[in-house]
Amino acid sequence: MRPSLLNPLFAPVTTLPGVGPKLERLYRRLLGREDGARVIDLLFHLPTGAIDRRARPKLAEVVPGTVVTVEVGVEGHLPPPPNRPRLPYRIETSDGTATLTLTYFSARPDYLTKLLPVGERRYVSGTTALYDGHLQMVHPDRVVDEAGLEKLPLVEPVYPLTEGLSENSVRRAVEGAVAKLPLLPEWQDEAWLVKERFPPFADALRLVHRPPEPADVSPDTRAWSRLAYDEFLAGQLALGLVRAHVRRPSGRRSAGDGSLRRKVVAALPYELTGSQRKALEDIAADLAKPERMTRLLQGDVGSGKTVVALLACAAVIETGKQCALMAPTEILARQHHKTIAPLAEQAGIRVALLTGRERGKERAAILDRLAGGGIDILIGTHALFQDDVAFRDLALAVVDEQHRFGVHQRLALARKGESVDMLVMTATPIPRTLVLTYFGDMDFSELREKPAGRQPIDTRTIDLDRFEEVVEGVGRALAEGRRVYWVCPLVEESETSDLAAAEDRFRTLRERFGKAADLVHGKMKGADKDAAMARFAAGETQLLVATTVIEVGVDVPEASVMVIEHAERFGLAQLHQLRGRIGRGSAKSTCLLLYKSPLGETARSRLAVLRESEDGFRIAEEDLRLRGEGDVLGTRQSGMPGFRIARIEAHGRLLQAARDDAALILARDPQLKSARGEALRVLLYLFERDEAVRLIRAG
Ligand code: ADP
Ligand code: MG
Repeated sequence: MRPSLLNPLFAPVTTLPGVGPKLERLYRRLLGREDGARVIDLLFHLPTGAIDRRARPKLAEVVPGTVVTVEVGVEGHLPPPPNRPRLPYRIETSDGTATLTLTYFSARPDYLTKLLPVGERRYVSGTTALYDGHLQMVHPDRVVDEAGLEKLPLVEPVYPLTEGLSENSVRRAVEGAVAKLPLLPEWQDEAWLVKERFPPFADALRLVHRPPEPADVSPDTRAWSRLAYDEFLAGQLALGLVRAHVRRPSGRRSAGDGSLRRKVVAALPYELTGSQRKALEDIAADLAKPERMTRLLQGDVGSGKTVVALLACAAVIETGKQCALMAPTEILARQHHKTIAPLAEQAGIRVALLTGRERGKERAAILDRLAGGGIDILIGTHALFQDDVAFRDLALAVVDEQHRFGVHQRLALARKGESVDMLVMTATPIPRTLVLTYFGDMDFSELREKPAGRQPIDTRTIDLDRFEEVVEGVGRALAEGRRVYWVCPLVEESETSDLAAAEDRFRTLRERFGKAADLVHGKMKGADKDAAMARFAAGETQLLVATTVIEVGVDVPEASVMVIEHAERFGLAQLHQLRGRIGRGSAKSTCLLLYKSPLGETARSRLAVLRESEDGFRIAEEDLRLRGEGDVLGTRQSGMPGFRIARIEAHGRLLQAARDDAALILARDPQLKSARGEALRVLLYLFERDEAVRLIRAG
């Protein structure tokens, strides 16, 4: 159980002043928390910079273009004429040295007369500009009276935003979150704190969110570094605990004589690549050892992980035991089943599928066969670790797309058998710097080569203005019989109406291309989704308009064109994943990244990287570098495991220290029972490493 002193931090953001249900939805988006934004998420939403309002010149001294806080007398209001309501509302002010016009667009007059009453003195803060030779300020950031000035923070943090949320509302919410920080025990070593000049955790958060100087908003500060170190230490401790728990001698050796593997290989329409063979050797060696296997199979999209999984299963089945293959989505589970079943059949391996959709009698029959040993490989989704799913003898669990599952879920599957070996597959190339942090409890295999015969993908970036040309190009591709994915960023986001909602786009393309066009998106029912995928895979439809539901793993080798609309809104890793859906067959493939101009600096670099490279590892490194440079896209959106607080460029050197620290702590106090151990548990909960704490209890 989470210590109750942390409860206020894990309460929903609606417990903060000024945050109602409507804003809560925006905070979910801002903080990447689909299932509810919490106070802690806001606390960890760190500013990217600060506005300095400390300059207090007389109006005559103001340098246009700078941010100032000036004291003025309000002289008169000039509302727009009644027949021209779109003209600005202007307010004339002066301080005796010069005049300043405050300009408001579509403001409510009653609000302005209250805010700036004629004849009164006010302190106004914002960016100044020269317009027609007059000094003016468009929409001052702050207007306060004498009493308000005392409370006005003259250095204000600036936060990454999402559409619909203003700096002011985020600031106010963060302020509320900071006020909820409880008194926490110190979990870091005293001497280390002194050596690094680290402030206490809560002080560090307060310093970053209420910077006394603009320079205090920087990953290089002692405060931010302290928080990063906390994050590293929590991660390293959690890994250490998992490692201690998982690495137990299993006393089981599950690698057979190779007979089934030979049959599967003989049934393949292709040769295994060198790295597929190497990975299989690694796996076979692990299976033969009396220790439990925990191996990560990392391979770029399209590198052929599925067949490696099947062959690993075959090795185990040769010894008469069972395997489970877990995929993160229904579509993927079904697709794995479709790929694996025919190959398995030729080798006499019995495969079944279990997802949320198999119910009633059908499900009961599967469970029956599973318990009786009549199924060798059970493929499925989360449904696999429901309580009543019982294997006769589960020996290997393969988990696809690991980053979608937590360590805890991995372990839940492991508990379904005795000393279950684990093979975890991920298509998200993880930079070396992060590997140890996230997968330090695992051994590694990498599929570095692409299967033979793949052609490079021709990737181009195109301004959305040229939409018509793109549609014509797609028309030509369809006429040649090619299959095309058309990816849209969001569905039914009415508040962001300029987004090409997939349904709208589908209607347009349907008008144009008729029944060749089809639609698949995340809000569709499972069966409808599958049906749409199946029609596309079979070639009944040729143009599939989709949301990112096709991001992970979907395999239609005949698809050779991909259009991604608003590519600038996606993270680099995600674009790479999406693009990986094409270029899987022998045909030449084209990827068109449509962007809306003007493009920001980071978005431009991101698209350029993608145009130049298909190497997932290089892309992942670039992603990290670009995000490190203040990309607003969080780690969750780009689909990469990452840090909430730590920035690798600034804090990388602390990672090794945290690793050593964690090892030392666990050697001395493996159950975290000492006073510092208790405090470290709070740290683990704070960074949501709950599963690690549960492991301590499980012993
Ligand atoms: P991913 O690693 O993205 O999961 P898949 O396992 O879906 O990749 O494989 C992508 C495609 O490559 C599939 O169509 C599969 O049949 C094919 N494939 C796998 N291995 C090879 C190989 N050695 N040679 C040729 N094609 C292969
Ligand atoms: Mg896959």
